[in-house]
Amino acid sequence: MNITFPVREPLVPKKHAISDDYTLSSHVLGLGINGKVLACVHKATGKKYALKILRDNPKSRREVDIHWRASACPHIVNIHAVYENMQGTNRCLLIVMECMEGGELFQRIQDRPNGAFTEREAAEVVHSICMAVYHLHSVNIAHRDLKPENLLYTTKGEDGVLKLTDFGFAKEILARDSLQTPCYTPYYVAPEVLGPEKYDRSCDIWSLGVIMYILLCGFPPFYSNHGLAISPGMKKRIRAGEYDFPNPEWRNVSKEAKELIRDMLKTNPQHRPTIEDVMRHKWIAKYAEVPQTPLCTAQVLKEEEDQWPEVQDEMTRSLATMRVDYDQINLKSIANSDNSLLAKRRNRANAAAAEQAAA
Ligand code: ADP
Repeated sequence: MNITFPVREPLVPKKHAISDDYTLSSHVLGLGINGKVLACVHKATGKKYALKILRDNPKSRREVDIHWRASACPHIVNIHAVYENMQGTNRCLLIVMECMEGGELFQRIQDRPNGAFTEREAAEVVHSICMAVYHLHSVNIAHRDLKPENLLYTTKGEDGVLKLTDFGFAKEILARDSLQTPCYTPYYVAPEVLGPEKYDRSCDIWSLGVIMYILLCGFPPFYSNHGLAISPGMKKRIRAGEYDFPNPEWRNVSKEAKELIRDMLKTNPQHRPTIEDVMRHKWIAKYAEVPQTPLCTAQVLKEEEDQWPEVQDEMTRSLATMRVDYDQINLKSIANSDNSLLAKRRNRANAAAAEQAAA
């Protein structure tokens, strides 16, 4: 597979006042954990953009830098400009992004007439998300917060393009080959140290599996009982991979779709497919040939609209748990690796301790 998009030059935020170039409006486009996303208008072109304001700190810098570098992909929300300005007494980063006027993915499906959304359209949606994830993983970035509210459409019309946003939890992954430049060959780094990046990527594959499941039926895979409030045993069920494809919603869905979901939701992250594997799967590779079976998704989303905030919260919580778990696995595998540099240090420390004991 060879779909590559350019990686941008390093970001250099503009230092002059954003108000020289844009008229800021008080129109709130959306609310996030880090504050509001507002509308603004580019004075030179009259074009509308979305503005996200973050306190300037190392975490925000990382978020903006990763998003900037990734945003050359047509399925990732494009960053137009970044400013570094004082807001009152705070130094802030102001991110001017393309304005996603088409709203969130599942809102759009919910607004469709019952039965109008088909399995083929679901495959097109998953294919778009795969393009974004493929781009990120191929440049060694794991998004780690792939969830419905971070998938937005450019416009409300038929031609709306689905794009991924919010790089607040994105992580650069230490890739085996990224360090092996001619001037820096870390011959002493054991594969275990460079290997654990798998876990971060597998987080995005799990999310993709959950989103694909919801697209095909309108409810998430890890409910105690579809329709009932989420029980505290959910984390256990995710771990145990306990979910099924209940009828009537799943009766007419293709076996290829179910097979792909089963792969992506494998309990052991190491057993999940890579994004390349997913894109090679027939249901994605030949998405335009997937049967046009009508789905129950729009109807279920409408009927259970008041449950949606819980579905979102649950996915947010599951992703947070997964990030913590996988970060711990990463740390442990570094600590346990027989990386020779660490081994030398350990031996030296042991020898020093032995000398002290003998003295
Ligand atoms: P946070 O990282 O603080 O959670 P997000 O980047 O997820 O913030 O944005 C919060 C909300 O703002 C989104 O869920 C969406 O509704 C809206 N939003 C974000 N980016 C855009 C955009 N480029 N265009 C339009 N609305 C946006």
